[in-house]
Amino acid sequence: MNIDSITNGVVIDHISVGKGMELYNLLGLDNLDASVAFIKNASSKKLGKKDIIKIDAEIDVNFDVIGYVDPAATVNVIRDGKLFEKLKIGMPETLTNVIKCKNPRCITSTEQELPHVFRLTDREGKIYRCIYCETKAT
Ligand code: ZN
Repeated sequence: MNIDSITNGVVIDHISVGKGMELYNLLGLDNLDASVAFIKNASSKKLGKKDIIKIDAEIDVNFDVIGYVDPAATVNVIRDGKLFEKLKIGMPETLTNVIKCKNPRCITSTEQELPHVFRLTDREGKIYRCIYCETKAT
């Protein structure tokens, strides 16, 4: 892919088709004051089709979010127009303040200052559960 247009920034590559938008939203890129390109259905030798997100800014992307949405995605860090680092993410063991527990009786719905923490309980099935009430993340 062409990364020439970015001088310093981050490219999230090899995102499974259809996951790009979810990632875009969960990373809060809408609120970012930088140019962000979201490319869907790009052709890929490895995957056939893929989604790509290019962020033209040196931001700290939340790797937990990427690993949660798509553990197969890769993160390319671009510095001075060159590939500086290529990172494989994988599924995080815990997620803090990435998603919210949907159980209305969960303590997090009454105790607003509590962090929303989910733990990976089944790696194969990619199942995360709230650490307070065990509700499955959907
Ligand atoms: Zn809960």
